[in-house]
Parts: sequence; structure tokens; C-alpha cells
Amino acid sequence: MNITDALIIGAGPTGLFTAHQLKLIGLDCEIVDNLDKIGGQCIELYPDKPIYDIPAVPACTGEELTNNLIKQLQNFNIKFHLSERVDEVKKEGEKWFVKTNLGTTFLTPNVIIAGGVGSFEPRKFPPKECEKFENKSILYSVKDKTIFKDKTVSIFGGGDSALDWAVELSKTSQVNLIHRRDDFRGAQATVDKVHELVKSGKINLYTKYQILSVKGNQSLETIDIKNDDKEIKTLKSDYALGFFGLIMQLGPIANWGLNIDKKTIEVDTEKFETNQKGIYAVGDICNYPGKLKLILSGFHEGALAARACFKLARPNEKYRFEFTTTSKAAQERLGVAKK
Ligand SMILES: Cc1cc2nc3c(=O)[nH]c(=O)nc-3n(C[C@H](O)[C@H](O)[C@H](O)COP(=O)(O)OP(=O)(O)OC[C@H]3O[C@@H](n4cnc5c(N)ncnc54)[C@H](O)[C@@H]3O)c2cc1C
Repeated sequence: MNITDALIIGAGPTGLFTAHQLKLIGLDCEIVDNLDKIGGQCIELYPDKPIYDIPAVPACTGEELTNNLIKQLQNFNIKFHLSERVDEVKKEGEKWFVKTNLGTTFLTPNVIIAGGVGSFEPRKFPPKECEKFENKSILYSVKDKTIFKDKTVSIFGGGDSALDWAVELSKTSQVNLIHRRDDFRGAQATVDKVHELVKSGKINLYTKYQILSVKGNQSLETIDIKNDDKEIKTLKSDYALGFFGLIMQLGPIANWGLNIDKKTIEVDTEKFETNQKGIYAVGDICNYPGKLKLILSGFHEGALAARACFKLARPNEKYRFEFTTTSKAAQERLGVAKK
């Protein structure tokens, strides 16, 4: 069980800056995100696009903003739990018990939901029976490529992820690449490389085919694929990898007893607290009169929610407002205090 002063759900720009604000006032926090990387929409949807309305930053890309937010946290040693989705939030005494889909648990007086438009989830294989093999022999991301060594891997998709992994795994595995169209959406250089590997027999390519069904006992054994002419092929497969892009789902957040309207959580504008004491919502996911879905709003909301957390995390202490330019305590926490 992880015990912390505040748990942040979401490592987008709002979650990151909220962590900064919590640590600055001397509170501990941990962050959970369903994605395998930090940065939320900025890193997942527009890493190369310039943003022009971050105060005092004339222009920076989604990736640059994320890197700078991470840099701003460098002295704080924050524990990130990536590739984990918070599924459960329930009251335990005066605190909140939080559990992820991987079974990681937290006990905290404060939960800050910085969940954006919900968790980014992979688009999954349609056949229902695929669920039985999910996270074992049917995967939607690769954490450890060594598990595929000397195995047969069927990769589905026509974008960069599918092509990149087909090229990479063809070095050590038997690879089937299956795509429902003839043309690929990936970078031309990778598409060319795939065709080269198909020619040399390193990749078996099946275009205009889609998954029909899967079979196996403990783990995946075969996959049936079907084309537009209803021709069916059976591929022996130890693993299937699906790269069909991501969808955003409010998901489990909808079940935590919060006031939700049009996929956003209603909050007050003093503490950004929800209808549940000790649960706050900040960034794109929160709603109040005049809400602007901009990064700069998330920063302000996170700063106020962090101060509100102090009261529940340190009930016997009084929060003192201080500037970073003059606060010795803040500078020590930031690692910039003069000796
Ligand atoms: C193309 C594009 C361009 C944009 N340009 C601008 C711009 O120029 N200026 C500007 O200010 N804004 C811009 N925005 C909007 C901006 O990106 C968002 O306002 C901002 O990302 C919101 O940040 P956030 O941290 O609240 O949420 P997000 O960035 O959405 O991050 C939320 C994170 O929470 C995670 N999450 C959700 N639920 C769970 C759960 N149950 N468990 C674990 N993790 C969970 C998600 O996986 C996600 O990583 C743009 C958006 C897009 C799509």
C-alpha cells in the first residue's frame, strides 16, 4: 500500500504542474497515468505542434512543454505509476483508498483528478474471445520485446506503431503483418523497409485482411483472418499485437460518486473540490461557470487544489502563503537554496 499526502490521476500538463505545487508547499504526491509516457494530450496527440499561449513562453511544442514541466519537477523525486489506470476510489475512514487495474493501492486524504478527457485506451480487437488472452498473449503495447524471441507474432495495423514493431521483431521472431487495406499510413521509409523484409521472406504480409477469431487454451494458438472475398486463413501465432490507435474514455471515473455532467466533473472555484470532500478535479476534466479548456487554466486550478490538500494532509499545521523568490523552505525543496 502506498501512503501519500495526495494522489494525482493523470500525468498531463495539469497533473504535472499540480505535483509541482504540492511538493513546493511540502506535501508528498504520486501520479498514476494509463499511458506509458508522461504528458497527456500534449505528448500523445500533438508532440510536434507549437503551442503559442503558455504564459511567458512565446512558442513551444507539446513535447517541449512536457519536457520543461518534467524538468521543473526534477528535484522532487515524484513516483510515477505509468501504464496503470485508476479503477477504484472509495472511502476508508477519513481517507481515500485507491486501486489501479494492476492492483497497486494507495491510501491518501487527497485525490486530485487531472484526467483530461479520460484515459487513453487502445482500440481493441473486436472478437469477444480476445479478452481471455489480453495482457498475456494479446497485447496492445510492447513493454518487453524479449518475450517475442523465437516466437510467431501476428501484428495488426497499418500505422507507424504496427510497422515499426514489424520491422523490429522481424530480427528475432517470425512476423505476420496484417492490415485491412493495401496502403499503409506509416512513414514512407518504414513502409519501404517493410516491403523489403516481405520480399526477403522476413515478414509475411496479409493486406485487405482483418481478424475473425482466435483460438487457444491457456495461451493463444491460432488466429483466423478474413478478407473482403470472405477467404479465411489460419495463422499459427504465439502472440497478437494490435495497433489500432487510441480512444479516450472517461472510464472508471464515472463510477466514483462524483457529480458528472457531459463527461466533466463539477467543482467549486475556491478549491476545485468535487461533491466529495478530499477529491478535487482540475484541468480539462473539471467544469465550472466560465471554464476554459486551456493548459493555463489547468495550472491555476492545480495551484489552488494543492493548497486545499494541505488542510487535510496536515490538519495540525497552518498553511502559510509564500513566494518562491523569497521562501527559504520552497527554495530548499526546489534544491536552489543558497548555503
Ligand atoms: C490538437 C490539440 C491542440 C491543442 N492546442 C492547445 C493550445 O494551443 N493551447 C492550450 O492551452 N491547449 C491546447 N490544447 C488543449 C490541451 O492539450 C489540454 O487543455 C490539456 O492537455 C489538458 O491537460 P490535462 O492535464 O487536464 O489533461 P490531459 O492532457 O488530457 O491528460 C490527462 C491524462 O489523464 C490520464 N487518465 C485519465 N483517466 C485516468 C485513469 N482513470 N487512470 C489513469 N490515468 C488516467 C490520461 O491517460 C491522460 O494522460 C490542444 C489540444 C489538442 C488535442
